[in-house]
Amino acid sequence: MSNNVNPCVSCGACCAAYRVSFYWAEASDGGGGVPVTLTEPLGLMMRNMRGTNDRAPRCVALAGEIGQCVSCKIYADRPSPCREFSLSGDNGVVNDRCDRARARHGLPPLDAWRFSTPDESYVSQGASPVPDHVQSAGL
Ligand code: SF4
Ligand code: SF4
Repeated sequence: MSNNVNPCVSCGACCAAYRVSFYWAEASDGGGGVPVTLTEPLGLMMRNMRGTNDRAPRCVALAGEIGQCVSCKIYADRPSPCREFSLSGDNGVVNDRCDRARARHGLPPLDAWRFSTPDESYVSQGASPVPDHVQSAGL
């Protein structure tokens, strides 16, 4: 793999490892961009992406095969935890939750990516970008 290719394009593990929860108003019925039909209530004030609060979590918006080729079907409208989640090594910062999600799916940690920043974005390759996210660990 070229060192310029964003590893998230062939990963997607974090979209199938954690509960992705956020303030309810991020959903479309509260004025936000996340399609409410892809969410489910989580208490009084929160929602989570459907599929991510399951025993074997996998976000309903994740397309493709984990570890092969993936994309987020609502990338432009993904919730805040997805936007805030970074791949391990991005800008030299290790994200243990990225490594743990990958391990859960039998993928190695991103050692080779640490301390370097990919210069090709997830989006530019036609796949939906880095699944940022995650609030509640399902590991
Ligand atoms: S952030 Fe990490 S776990 Fe998530 S898709 Fe990218 S490499 Fe995979
Ligand atoms: S980035 Fe997209 S597919 Fe991944 S958890 Fe967030 S909404 Fe779901």
